[in-house]
Amino acid sequence: MAEKRKFQAIKGTRDLLPPETELWNRVEQTAREVFGTFGFGEIRLPIIEKIDLFARSIGSETDIVGKEMFSFEEYGFTALDTFRRNIITLNLVGPEPRFGFFNPQIHVDRFLEALSSSVQKGEIAKTPEVLSALGSMTELRDQLTAELQKEKPDPEEVRVYWSAIQQQAKNVHLGDQICLRPEATASVCRAYIQHNMHALTQPVKLYYMGPMFRRERPQKGRYRQFYQIGAEVLEAITPNTDATKSLGKDAAVDAEVIEMVMTFFARLGLEGVQLDINSIGHSAPECRRGYVEKLRAALEKVKDKLGPDSQRRIETNPLRVLDSKLESEQGIIAGLPRIGDSLCADCAKQYEKVKRQLDLRGVKYQENWRLVRGLDYYMRTTFEITARGLGSQNAVCGGGRYDGLVELLGGAPTKGIGFAIGEDRLILSLQEAVKGSVAQGRDVYIAWMGEKTLATAIRAAQNLRAAGFRVELPPVEQKLGKALGQADKLGARYALILGENEVASGEWTVKTLADGTQELVRGEKLVEFLRVQKKKEV
Ligand code: ATP
Ligand code: MG
Repeated sequence: MAEKRKFQAIKGTRDLLPPETELWNRVEQTAREVFGTFGFGEIRLPIIEKIDLFARSIGSETDIVGKEMFSFEEYGFTALDTFRRNIITLNLVGPEPRFGFFNPQIHVDRFLEALSSSVQKGEIAKTPEVLSALGSMTELRDQLTAELQKEKPDPEEVRVYWSAIQQQAKNVHLGDQICLRPEATASVCRAYIQHNMHALTQPVKLYYMGPMFRRERPQKGRYRQFYQIGAEVLEAITPNTDATKSLGKDAAVDAEVIEMVMTFFARLGLEGVQLDINSIGHSAPECRRGYVEKLRAALEKVKDKLGPDSQRRIETNPLRVLDSKLESEQGIIAGLPRIGDSLCADCAKQYEKVKRQLDLRGVKYQENWRLVRGLDYYMRTTFEITARGLGSQNAVCGGGRYDGLVELLGGAPTKGIGFAIGEDRLILSLQEAVKGSVAQGRDVYIAWMGEKTLATAIRAAQNLRAAGFRVELPPVEQKLGKALGQADKLGARYALILGENEVASGEWTVKTLADGTQELVRGEKLVEFLRVQKKKEV
C-alpha cells in the first residue's frame, strides 16, 4: 500500500489563516489610506528579478546576496536543458555500474551539438564556461569512450571522467540568473529607470507591499518568506541646483517620510514605538570614509577584546561592528569614535535640519549614533523603528536616504529616501497588544427552521450581504438551541430567527446575542434596523 504522505509548508514559510488575515488586511488597508493621504501611489512589482540587480545595489559581499537569496536559472532552450539534465542526473557508477548496456557518450554529443548551435544562433553568450565546456567536454568524452571500450573498464577512471563532464555541463549558464527578491528598493529604482519616471512631476512617491525572500535561520519574527510594506521617494537631480537650498528640501522630505510611518503606526495603535535616527554622512574622505578609517584604527587597538565576528568586520565593514549585540563588546563600543564628530559641514547641517523638521511635526525620536547601514550607497538620514513584544527581533521598520542608488543601477542622478516595514513583526506586536479580544466573525446568523422558510432565509441573506453585512446561512436546518450555540461560536452579533410563523406573519425575530434581548422586526425593515443598531455601537 502506498504510504500516506502529509505535506508541510516549506521551512521558514507559513500559511496565514483567518481570523488572523483580517488583521493583515486591516494593516494593509490602513497603509493604503495613510500613504494615500501623503500623496503616494502603489507600485506592484514582480517577485522575481535578475540577481545582478541586487548584487549591484545591495552588494555581492553582503549576507543577503552572498548566502540568503533563493536563486535559479531561467532559460527557454528546452532541448539543451533536457540534454544537460540527462548528463547531470545520470549516475554512471552506482553499486553495480553496467557500462555495457548503454552509451553515455551520446548524451554528451547531443548536449555539445545543441550548445554549439545555440551559441552560433546567438541564443547563448560565449562565456568562458561555455567555451570551456565546448573544448574540454569533447576531450573528456573521448577519454571516457576509450576507457569504456577496454575489456575491463576501471570504475574509478569512469567516475572521474564522468563527474568532470557533469561539472562542465553544470557550469554552463543557459540563461539569466534570477532570484526571488530579498527586498524591493532595488526593484522600485529599476522600475523608475525602466519607465522613465524622471520625466514625471518630481518627486515620485511610491509604496509597495508583498512577500520578500531570504534564506535565513527561521525563528520568531524571522522567516524565509516574509512581508514588507515600504515606500520610496525618488527625485531626479536637476543640474546646478543650490546645494544649501536642497539640504533644507531633503530634510523636509526625510522628515515627512518618517512622519508618515509614525502616523501609520499610530493609526494602527502600535504600542511601545521607538524611533531611532542617525546621520551616516556621505561616502567621501572628509566625511564617512574618513570616519571609517578612524573607526578601523580604534578597533585595531582593541582587536583582541572583540569576538570573531567583529574582528572579521574590522577589515570588511567596520561600521557593522557598531551593530553588535554581544554583551561583552558593549563597553568597548561605547568608547569608540562617533560618526557625529566626523560629518562634513553639509551632512552635519542636513542632520540638524532633519531634527528640526521632526520637531516641527511633533515626531518624537531618539538619536542613536550606533545606527548604521553597512551599504555604501546609503547616506545621511538613517532611521529604525522598534516596537513592543518582539524579543530580539524588535525592529519593525528600517529606512534611509540613498541618493546614489538609481545612478548605480544605470539611471540618471536621482535622490532617494525610503523605508521598509516588516509586516510579520508589525502584526506580531499588534497581536501582543490585543491578546484575548476575539475578532467579530459574523454580523448575522440566520437560524431557519422548516423547509418552507428556506426561500425566505436565502432572500434575507442576499439582501443583508448586498448591504455589506457578514452573514452565516447554515446549509441545513437546525434546532433553535443548536443554531444559537453555533451563532455564538462564530462570534455573531445577531441571530435572525425564521420559523414558519415568522415567515407567515412577516414579523421576524432578531436576537441580540450579547444580552439575549429579542425584537420583532418586519422583514423589509431588517436591513435598516441592523444599520441603526450598528451606528449605535460605534
Ligand atoms: P534585521 O536586523 O532584523 O535582520 P534587516 O536589517 O535585515 O533586519 P531590512 O533589510 O532593513 O532588515 O528590512 C526591513 C524590515 O524588514 C526589518 O526591520 C524587519 O522588520 C523586516 N525583516 C527583515 N528580515 C526579515 C525576516 N527574515 N523575517 C521577517 N521580517 C524581516
Ligand atoms: Mg537581516
